[in-house]
Amino acid sequence: MKVSQVDVYVLRHALSEPFAFAQWWNSERTCCLVCVTADDGSVGWGECFGSAEVNAAVVRDFLGPRLIGRDPLNTGVLWEELYNRSRDFGQKGAFVAGLSGLDIALWDLKGRALGLPVATLLGGAWCDEVEAYATGFFFTRGEGQAGRLADEARRYLDQGFRGLKMKVGLGLERDLENLRAVRRAVGHELPLAIDANHAYNAREAIELGLHAAAENVWWFEEPVPPEDLEGYAEVRRVLGPHGVPIAGGEAEFTRYGFRELFVRRCVDLAQPDLGACGGFTAGLEIAALGRTFGIEVRPHVWGAAVGLAAALQFLAALPPIPGALTPRTRWLELDRTENPLRDQLIPDFPQREGPMVAVPTAPGLGIDVDVERLRRWVA
Ligand code: CA
Repeated sequence: MKVSQVDVYVLRHALSEPFAFAQWWNSERTCCLVCVTADDGSVGWGECFGSAEVNAAVVRDFLGPRLIGRDPLNTGVLWEELYNRSRDFGQKGAFVAGLSGLDIALWDLKGRALGLPVATLLGGAWCDEVEAYATGFFFTRGEGQAGRLADEARRYLDQGFRGLKMKVGLGLERDLENLRAVRRAVGHELPLAIDANHAYNAREAIELGLHAAAENVWWFEEPVPPEDLEGYAEVRRVLGPHGVPIAGGEAEFTRYGFRELFVRRCVDLAQPDLGACGGFTAGLEIAALGRTFGIEVRPHVWGAAVGLAAALQFLAALPPIPGALTPRTRWLELDRTENPLRDQLIPDFPQREGPMVAVPTAPGLGIDVDVERLRRWVA
Protein backbone atom coordinates (compact mmCIF):
# COMPACT_ATOMS: atom_id res chain seq x y z
CA MET A 1 0.00 0.00 0.00
CA LYS A 2 1.26 3.47 -0.88
CA VAL A 3 0.03 6.98 -0.11
CA SER A 4 -1.29 8.44 -3.35
CA GLN A 5 -2.83 11.73 -2.22
CA VAL A 6 -2.93 14.14 0.73
CA ASP A 7 -5.81 16.63 0.88
CA VAL A 8 -6.26 19.53 3.28
CA TYR A 9 -9.49 21.34 4.17
CA VAL A 10 -9.84 24.58 6.13
CA LEU A 11 -13.31 24.75 7.66
CA ARG A 12 -14.85 27.94 9.02
CA HIS A 13 -17.99 28.90 10.90
CA ALA A 14 -18.89 32.48 11.88
CA LEU A 15 -20.16 32.57 15.48
CA SER A 16 -23.61 34.00 16.13
CA GLU A 17 -22.09 35.75 19.17
CA PRO A 18 -18.34 36.36 19.63
CA PHE A 19 -16.83 35.18 22.92
CA ALA A 20 -13.57 35.80 24.73
CA PHE A 21 -11.25 33.96 27.07
CA ALA A 22 -8.27 35.33 28.94
CA GLN A 23 -6.26 35.93 25.76
CA TRP A 24 -8.42 37.02 22.84
CA TRP A 25 -11.85 37.22 21.24
CA ASN A 26 -13.20 34.50 18.98
CA SER A 27 -15.62 35.51 16.24
CA GLU A 28 -15.38 32.25 14.31
CA ARG A 29 -14.54 28.59 14.73
CA THR A 30 -12.08 27.08 12.30
CA CYS A 31 -10.25 23.82 11.85
CA CYS A 32 -7.80 22.15 9.52
CA LEU A 33 -8.73 18.62 8.45
CA VAL A 34 -6.32 16.29 6.68
CA CYS A 35 -7.23 13.36 4.44
CA VAL A 36 -4.65 10.75 3.40
CA THR A 37 -5.60 8.46 0.51
CA ALA A 38 -3.76 5.26 -0.43
CA ASP A 39 -3.44 3.67 -3.88
CA ASP A 40 -5.99 0.96 -2.97
CA GLY A 41 -8.58 3.67 -2.28
CA SER A 42 -8.47 3.52 1.52
CA VAL A 43 -8.55 6.84 3.34
CA GLY A 44 -7.77 8.24 6.77
CA TRP A 45 -8.76 11.53 8.40
CA GLY A 46 -6.91 13.73 10.85
CA GLU A 47 -7.25 17.16 12.44
CA CYS A 48 -4.68 19.77 13.45
CA PHE A 49 -5.04 22.10 16.43
CA GLY A 50 -3.99 25.75 16.15
CA SER A 51 -4.09 28.21 13.25
CA ALA A 52 -6.06 26.34 10.58
CA GLU A 53 -4.53 28.25 7.66
CA VAL A 54 -0.93 27.90 8.84
CA ASN A 55 -1.37 24.21 9.70
CA ALA A 56 -2.92 23.67 6.27
CA ALA A 57 0.09 25.28 4.60
CA VAL A 58 2.48 23.05 6.56
CA VAL A 59 0.60 19.93 5.48
CA ARG A 60 -0.04 21.01 1.90
CA ASP A 61 3.36 22.51 1.09
CA PHE A 62 5.87 20.72 3.28
CA LEU A 63 4.90 17.54 5.11
CA GLY A 64 2.14 16.11 2.90
CA PRO A 65 4.16 15.81 -0.34
CA ARG A 66 6.80 13.83 1.54
CA LEU A 67 4.26 11.08 2.30
CA ILE A 68 3.43 10.39 -1.35
CA GLY A 69 4.56 6.91 -2.35
CA ARG A 70 5.20 5.82 1.24
CA ASP A 71 3.54 2.91 3.06
CA PRO A 72 0.86 4.52 5.30
CA LEU A 73 0.92 1.59 7.73
CA ASN A 74 4.44 2.56 8.89
CA THR A 75 3.16 5.26 11.23
CA GLY A 76 6.23 5.25 13.49
CA VAL A 77 8.72 5.39 10.62
CA LEU A 78 6.86 8.24 8.93
CA TRP A 79 6.51 10.22 12.18
CA GLU A 80 10.24 10.09 12.88
CA GLU A 81 11.16 10.93 9.30
CA LEU A 82 8.81 13.90 9.05
CA TYR A 83 9.79 15.21 12.47
CA ASN A 84 13.45 14.86 11.67
CA ARG A 85 12.95 16.63 8.35
CA SER A 86 11.55 19.69 10.16
CA ARG A 87 13.22 19.57 13.58
CA ASP A 88 15.83 22.20 12.72
CA PHE A 89 13.07 24.80 12.50
CA GLY A 90 9.87 23.12 13.68
CA GLN A 91 10.25 21.43 17.06
CA LYS A 92 7.09 23.13 18.33
CA GLY A 93 4.09 24.87 16.84
CA ALA A 94 2.62 24.49 13.36
CA PHE A 95 5.11 21.96 12.03
CA VAL A 96 4.25 19.55 14.84
CA ALA A 97 0.53 20.38 14.51
CA GLY A 98 0.71 19.55 10.79
CA LEU A 99 2.51 16.34 11.63
CA SER A 100 -0.18 15.62 14.23
CA GLY A 101 -3.01 15.85 11.71
CA LEU A 102 -1.16 13.58 9.29
CA ASP A 103 -0.32 11.09 12.04
CA ILE A 104 -3.96 10.89 13.16
CA ALA A 105 -5.00 10.33 9.52
CA LEU A 106 -2.41 7.58 9.08
CA TRP A 107 -3.63 5.75 12.22
CA ASP A 108 -7.22 6.09 11.02
CA LEU A 109 -6.20 4.64 7.66
CA LYS A 110 -4.27 1.84 9.35
CA GLY A 111 -7.24 0.95 11.55
CA ARG A 112 -9.54 0.85 8.55
CA ALA A 113 -7.05 -1.26 6.59
CA LEU A 114 -6.79 -3.76 9.45
CA GLY A 115 -10.47 -3.58 10.39
CA LEU A 116 -9.70 -2.46 13.95
CA PRO A 117 -10.44 0.66 15.98
CA VAL A 118 -7.41 2.84 16.71
CA ALA A 119 -7.83 2.15 20.45
CA THR A 120 -7.07 -1.51 19.77
CA LEU A 121 -3.95 -0.57 17.81
CA LEU A 122 -2.85 1.67 20.71
CA GLY A 123 -2.92 -1.28 23.11
CA GLY A 124 -6.60 -1.84 23.65
CA ALA A 125 -9.64 -0.03 25.01
CA TRP A 126 -10.11 -0.14 28.80
CA CYS A 127 -13.74 0.94 28.53
CA ASP A 128 -16.57 1.41 26.07
CA GLU A 129 -17.57 4.85 27.29
CA VAL A 130 -15.98 7.83 29.02
CA GLU A 131 -17.42 10.65 31.09
CA ALA A 132 -17.42 14.15 29.65
CA TYR A 133 -16.93 17.29 31.67
CA ALA A 134 -18.34 20.50 30.23
CA THR A 135 -15.91 23.19 29.14
CA GLY A 136 -17.54 26.56 28.75
CA PHE A 137 -18.07 29.75 30.75
CA PHE A 138 -16.48 32.03 28.18
CA PHE A 139 -16.81 35.77 28.42
CA THR A 140 -19.21 37.69 26.24
CA ARG A 141 -18.45 41.29 27.14
CA GLY A 142 -14.83 40.96 28.13
CA GLU A 143 -15.87 40.08 31.66
CA GLY A 144 -17.45 37.15 33.36
CA GLN A 145 -20.94 38.35 34.25
CA ALA A 146 -21.29 36.18 37.30
CA GLY A 147 -25.06 35.76 37.06
CA ARG A 148 -24.93 34.57 33.46
CA LEU A 149 -22.11 32.12 34.33
CA ALA A 150 -24.14 30.73 37.24
CA ASP A 151 -27.09 30.18 34.86
CA GLU A 152 -24.76 28.41 32.46
CA ALA A 153 -23.58 26.12 35.27
CA ARG A 154 -27.16 25.20 36.17
CA ARG A 155 -27.83 24.40 32.53
CA TYR A 156 -24.93 21.92 32.48
CA LEU A 157 -26.22 20.28 35.66
CA ASP A 158 -29.64 19.93 34.03
CA GLN A 159 -27.94 18.24 31.09
CA GLY A 160 -26.42 15.68 33.46
CA PHE A 161 -22.79 16.86 33.57
CA ARG A 162 -20.94 15.99 36.78
CA GLY A 163 -17.77 17.95 36.06
CA LEU A 164 -17.26 21.52 34.82
CA LYS A 165 -14.40 23.74 33.76
CA MET A 166 -14.69 27.52 33.77
CA LYS A 167 -12.51 30.31 32.46
CA VAL A 168 -10.57 32.67 34.70
CA GLY A 169 -7.75 35.10 33.90
CA LEU A 170 -9.58 38.45 34.15
CA GLY A 171 -7.83 39.55 37.34
CA LEU A 172 -8.22 38.32 40.90
CA GLU A 173 -11.34 40.27 41.78
CA ARG A 174 -13.44 39.36 38.75
CA ASP A 175 -12.20 35.76 38.73
CA LEU A 176 -13.24 35.23 42.33
CA GLU A 177 -16.60 36.88 41.79
CA ASN A 178 -17.27 34.55 38.85
CA LEU A 179 -15.88 31.45 40.58
CA ARG A 180 -17.92 32.03 43.72
CA ALA A 181 -21.09 32.59 41.69
CA VAL A 182 -20.63 29.33 39.80
CA ARG A 183 -19.66 27.48 42.99
CA ARG A 184 -22.80 28.70 44.73
CA ALA A 185 -24.89 27.54 41.76
CA VAL A 186 -23.51 23.99 41.72
CA GLY A 187 -22.81 23.36 45.41
CA HIS A 188 -19.47 22.91 47.13
CA GLU A 189 -18.71 19.33 46.05
CA LEU A 190 -19.24 19.22 42.28
CA PRO A 191 -15.90 18.90 40.42
CA LEU A 192 -15.22 22.43 39.10
CA ALA A 193 -11.89 23.27 37.45
CA ILE A 194 -10.55 26.72 36.56
CA ASP A 195 -8.52 27.57 33.45
CA ALA A 196 -6.46 30.79 33.26
CA ASN A 197 -5.07 30.22 29.75
CA HIS A 198 -1.71 31.41 31.11
CA ALA A 199 -2.86 34.95 31.85
CA TYR A 200 -0.90 35.18 35.12
CA ASN A 201 2.63 35.20 36.43
CA ALA A 202 3.53 32.80 39.22
CA ARG A 203 2.88 35.29 42.04
CA GLU A 204 -0.57 36.19 40.70
CA ALA A 205 -1.43 32.55 40.02
CA ILE A 206 -0.51 31.58 43.57
CA GLU A 207 -2.66 34.38 44.98
CA LEU A 208 -5.66 33.29 42.90
CA GLY A 209 -4.99 29.63 43.65
CA LEU A 210 -4.96 30.19 47.41
CA HIS A 211 -8.37 31.87 47.23
CA ALA A 212 -9.63 29.25 44.78
CA ALA A 213 -8.62 26.49 47.22
CA ALA A 214 -11.39 27.70 49.53
CA GLU A 215 -13.80 27.12 46.62
CA ASN A 216 -12.69 23.51 46.34
CA VAL A 217 -11.42 23.73 42.75
CA TRP A 218 -10.90 20.49 40.85
CA TRP A 219 -7.72 21.68 39.21
CA PHE A 220 -6.05 24.94 38.11
CA GLU A 221 -5.23 24.83 34.39
CA GLU A 222 -2.51 26.80 32.61
CA PRO A 223 -1.86 29.17 35.52
CA VAL A 224 1.28 30.65 33.89
CA PRO A 225 2.76 30.85 30.36
CA PRO A 226 3.84 27.48 28.94
CA GLU A 227 7.48 28.59 28.67
CA ASP A 228 7.69 29.45 32.39
CA LEU A 229 8.49 26.00 33.73
CA GLU A 230 10.01 27.37 36.94
CA GLY A 231 6.81 29.34 37.49
CA TYR A 232 4.73 26.20 36.94
CA ALA A 233 6.80 24.26 39.45
CA GLU A 234 6.60 27.06 42.02
CA VAL A 235 2.81 27.38 41.64
CA ARG A 236 2.44 23.63 42.03
CA ARG A 237 4.76 23.49 45.06
CA VAL A 238 2.80 26.20 46.87
CA LEU A 239 -0.74 25.16 45.90
CA GLY A 240 -0.29 21.40 46.24
CA PRO A 241 -0.58 21.40 50.05
CA HIS A 242 -3.80 23.41 49.65
CA GLY A 243 -5.33 20.67 47.53
CA VAL A 244 -5.16 22.45 44.17
CA PRO A 245 -3.77 20.19 41.40
CA ILE A 246 -2.02 21.95 38.52
CA ALA A 247 -2.81 21.08 34.89
CA GLY A 248 -1.21 22.11 31.60
CA GLY A 249 0.19 20.91 28.32
CA GLU A 250 -2.19 22.02 25.55
CA ALA A 251 0.58 24.37 24.37
CA GLU A 252 3.32 21.74 24.64
CA PHE A 253 4.65 19.44 21.96
CA THR A 254 6.14 15.96 21.56
CA ARG A 255 7.88 13.74 24.12
CA TYR A 256 10.66 16.33 24.36
CA GLY A 257 8.39 19.11 25.55
CA PHE A 258 6.49 16.92 28.01
CA ARG A 259 9.75 15.52 29.37
CA GLU A 260 10.54 19.00 30.70
CA LEU A 261 7.06 19.42 32.24
CA PHE A 262 7.46 16.06 33.98
CA VAL A 263 11.11 16.23 35.07
CA ARG A 264 10.56 19.64 36.64
CA ARG A 265 7.34 18.52 38.31
CA CYS A 266 5.30 21.31 36.73
CA VAL A 267 1.92 19.57 36.56
CA ASP A 268 -0.27 16.99 38.27
CA LEU A 269 -2.33 16.55 35.09
CA ALA A 270 -0.80 16.61 31.61
CA GLN A 271 -3.09 17.74 28.79
CA PRO A 272 -1.59 17.05 25.37
CA ASP A 273 -3.84 17.92 22.43
CA LEU A 274 -3.54 15.09 19.89
CA GLY A 275 -3.86 17.62 17.08
CA ALA A 276 -0.82 19.55 18.32
CA CYS A 277 1.44 17.30 20.40
CA GLY A 278 2.30 15.00 17.50
CA GLY A 279 -0.79 12.83 17.03
CA PHE A 280 -1.30 9.31 18.34
CA THR A 281 2.37 8.40 17.90
CA ALA A 282 3.50 11.21 20.20
CA GLY A 283 0.46 10.82 22.47
CA LEU A 284 1.49 7.23 23.22
CA GLU A 285 5.00 8.37 24.11
CA ILE A 286 3.74 11.20 26.30
CA ALA A 287 1.37 8.81 28.06
CA ALA A 288 4.25 6.40 28.68
CA LEU A 289 6.35 9.25 30.07
CA GLY A 290 3.41 10.28 32.26
CA ARG A 291 3.12 6.77 33.68
CA THR A 292 6.85 6.72 34.30
CA PHE A 293 6.62 9.92 36.32
CA GLY A 294 3.27 9.09 37.93
CA ILE A 295 1.52 11.98 36.21
CA GLU A 296 -1.97 11.52 34.80
CA VAL A 297 -2.60 12.29 31.13
CA ARG A 298 -5.99 13.74 30.26
CA PRO A 299 -6.07 15.06 26.69
CA HIS A 300 -7.02 18.60 25.81
CA VAL A 301 -9.87 18.73 23.29
CA TRP A 302 -10.94 21.81 21.35
CA GLY A 303 -12.00 21.78 17.78
CA ALA A 304 -13.94 19.67 15.34
CA ALA A 305 -15.41 16.17 15.30
CA VAL A 306 -12.30 14.44 13.93
CA GLY A 307 -10.16 15.68 16.81
CA LEU A 308 -12.87 14.65 19.27
CA ALA A 309 -13.01 11.16 17.74
CA ALA A 310 -9.22 10.89 18.03
CA ALA A 311 -9.36 11.95 21.69
CA LEU A 312 -11.98 9.27 22.41
CA GLN A 313 -9.79 6.50 20.96
CA PHE A 314 -6.77 7.78 22.87
CA LEU A 315 -8.58 8.27 26.17
CA ALA A 316 -10.08 4.78 26.01
CA ALA A 317 -6.62 3.25 25.50
CA LEU A 318 -4.79 5.09 28.31
CA PRO A 319 -3.67 2.75 31.09
CA PRO A 320 -4.70 4.04 34.51
CA ILE A 321 -2.07 6.01 36.40
CA PRO A 322 -1.66 4.32 38.82
CA GLY A 323 -3.56 1.06 38.53
CA ALA A 324 -6.08 0.24 41.24
CA LEU A 325 -9.03 -2.03 41.94
CA THR A 326 -11.48 0.83 41.57
CA PRO A 327 -11.39 2.19 38.01
CA ARG A 328 -10.76 5.90 37.67
CA THR A 329 -13.12 8.11 35.73
CA ARG A 330 -11.74 8.85 32.27
CA TRP A 331 -12.65 12.48 31.87
CA LEU A 332 -13.24 13.72 28.35
CA GLU A 333 -13.05 17.46 27.75
CA LEU A 334 -16.24 18.42 25.91
CA ASP A 335 -16.41 22.02 24.74
CA ARG A 336 -20.00 23.28 24.92
CA THR A 337 -19.64 26.53 23.00
CA GLU A 338 -21.18 27.04 19.57
CA ASN A 339 -19.37 24.88 17.01
CA PRO A 340 -21.14 23.01 14.19
CA LEU A 341 -17.74 21.69 13.07
CA ARG A 342 -17.85 19.59 16.25
CA ASP A 343 -21.59 18.83 16.40
CA GLN A 344 -22.73 18.59 12.77
CA LEU A 345 -19.74 17.47 10.70
CA ILE A 346 -20.40 13.79 11.49
CA PRO A 347 -24.10 12.92 11.85
CA ASP A 348 -24.92 11.09 15.12
CA PHE A 349 -21.50 11.76 16.63
CA PRO A 350 -20.62 11.81 19.44
CA GLN A 351 -23.18 9.42 20.90
CA ARG A 352 -23.84 10.88 24.31
CA GLU A 353 -26.21 10.00 27.10
CA GLY A 354 -26.03 12.66 29.75
CA PRO A 355 -22.31 13.02 30.44
CA MET A 356 -21.39 9.56 29.11
CA VAL A 357 -19.86 9.42 25.63
CA ALA A 358 -19.58 6.10 23.77
CA VAL A 359 -16.17 5.18 22.36
CA PRO A 360 -16.72 4.30 18.68
CA THR A 361 -15.83 0.69 17.89
CA ALA A 362 -15.86 0.83 14.08
CA PRO A 363 -12.41 0.60 12.39
CA GLY A 364 -10.00 3.53 12.59
CA LEU A 365 -11.40 6.57 14.39
CA GLY A 366 -14.83 4.98 14.08
CA ILE A 367 -16.36 7.86 12.14
CA ASP A 368 -17.03 8.58 8.47
CA VAL A 369 -16.26 12.01 7.08
CA ASP A 370 -18.49 12.94 4.15
CA VAL A 371 -16.54 15.29 1.86
CA GLU A 372 -19.71 16.69 0.28
CA ARG A 373 -21.13 17.55 3.71
CA LEU A 374 -17.82 19.05 4.78
CA ARG A 375 -17.82 21.49 1.85
CA ARG A 376 -20.57 23.59 3.44
CA TRP A 377 -17.92 24.93 5.84
CA VAL A 378 -15.00 25.21 3.43
CA ALA A 379 -13.93 28.85 3.32
CA1 CA B 1 -7.42 25.02 28.50
